[in-house]
Amino acid sequence: MCIFCKILNKEIPSNPISEDDKFLSFHDINPKAPIHVLIIPKIHIDSFNDVSPQMMADMTAFIQKLVEKLGIKEDGYRLITNIGEHGAQEVKHLHFHLLAGSRLKWGHFTDADPKNNL
Ligand code: AMP
Repeated sequence: MCIFCKILNKEIPSNPISEDDKFLSFHDINPKAPIHVLIIPKIHIDSFNDVSPQMMADMTAFIQKLVEKLGIKEDGYRLITNIGEHGAQEVKHLHFHLLAGSRLKWGHFTDADPKNNL
C-alpha cells in the first residue's frame, strides 16, 4: 500500500486541513514554502495520467474551497503535480502541491539546457 493510502487508512498520522467524501488535504511533511499543502483523492490513482476529467473537476472545486479556507486567493499561490520519472514524482499517488505564503521563486528545474528544444 502506498504511503498516502496509509495516511487515508490512518495507519500513518497526517496534519489534515480539510476533507470531503472524495479528497483530503494535509500539510506536507517537508514544506518548501510557508504554506505547503498536499491534496489527494481518497481512491488510489497513480498520477495525473490516470485521473478522469470528472474527478479533476471535483478536485478543482475542492482545491478552490481549500484556497478560500487558507485565505490565499488574493495573494496567490502555486499548484503543481509531478508526474512520473521526469516529473520527479516520489509518491505514486496523485497529489497536487499547493504552495503559498510568500512570493515564490521560479526555480532551477533541470540541468538540461532548455534552449535545446526551441
Ligand atoms: P512528489 O515528489 O511530488 O511525489 O511529492 C511527494 C511529497 O510528499 C513530498 O513533498 C514529501 O515531502 C511529501 N510527503 C511524503 N511523506 C509524507 C507524509 N507522511 N506526510 C506528509 N507529506 C509527505
